Amino acid sequence: MSELKGINVVWLSETDLTNLNAGEGESNYIDVKKYKKNGIEYPYVSGQAMRFYLREAIRRNLNNDEYMCIPDDKGETCGDISKCINCDLFGFMTTIKGKGAITRVSPVKVSPAIGLFSFDENSNVDFLTRRHRVTEGTKMEGDIVNVEMGTNIYKSGISIDLLRVGAEEKIDEENRTADIEDKIDENEKISRIKKIIEGIGFISDYSKQARLLTDFTPDLVVISLQNIYSHRLQKLFELNEEGELNKERFKEILEEVSKYSDKLFFGMISGILKNEDAEFVKNTLQEKNMEIKTPKDAIDDAVAYLSTQ
Ligand SMILES: [Zn+2]
Repeated sequence: MSELKGINVVWLSETDLTNLNAGEGESNYIDVKKYKKNGIEYPYVSGQAMRFYLREAIRRNLNNDEYMCIPDDKGETCGDISKCINCDLFGFMTTIKGKGAITRVSPVKVSPAIGLFSFDENSNVDFLTRRHRVTEGTKMEGDIVNVEMGTNIYKSGISIDLLRVGAEEKIDEENRTADIEDKIDENEKISRIKKIIEGIGFISDYSKQARLLTDFTPDLVVISLQNIYSHRLQKLFELNEEGELNKERFKEILEEVSKYSDKLFFGMISGILKNEDAEFVKNTLQEKNMEIKTPKDAIDDAVAYLSTQ
């Protein structure tokens, strides 16, 4: 564990027709968040929404003796990183009695989920009836809401700064040096890191999920346990508009990240990549004495490996 500095996870997830982060509020037109590249619109799910999904996935699977606070009505959290998994992993900005306002930068970086295919070619507007109570005690009435929806493959990723899990930076004012001070023991630290990885396999809690059931867990996932802190793995998968993998890119990034990774875990289900690309990935990994399992097995293997550290 002491050798490991960073963990990166990058994954692709194919969605059915859905709207993953519908705009909030009461408007009757609910659109999908989009970004533009070369004048073409692509859907995305914000990094903030992804953090929320991951956090709630971890919260749902807590044991009885584990604690994650819930923000108060001002959005402030408890700020006790030794006790609270939420404040430790996801950071906070809060006011603590006697200490004033303090901020913790999250040791878990979460990327937005980026749709890889253009929105226009893969979208629809659907009509849902939204039911609401007009006034207290009267019957439910419905109105029609237009919900923009699309199918796509989304790319998401996280990066964990292992030194900062359960730890705080201490600045020595006199010598102008900084040191990392652990607030939890090694077992607790590994337990929290495992929860993040496991959480990815359980991500749910999407907007509009009450109406639109979709699976947003990884269909293709890679987890790197690295002895340096780097985000490089996030560039591993590039698909063109036809869904074809950039094979050269895959090889190059794999080559680089392998150099500073103790271990890489791969998981894939069939159909997420074109057959030819899936074969290429399998063969490339085989040449490097790595194997590819299902996403669930890859996550389980990474978690099991961390237990031995
Ligand atoms: Zn807290």
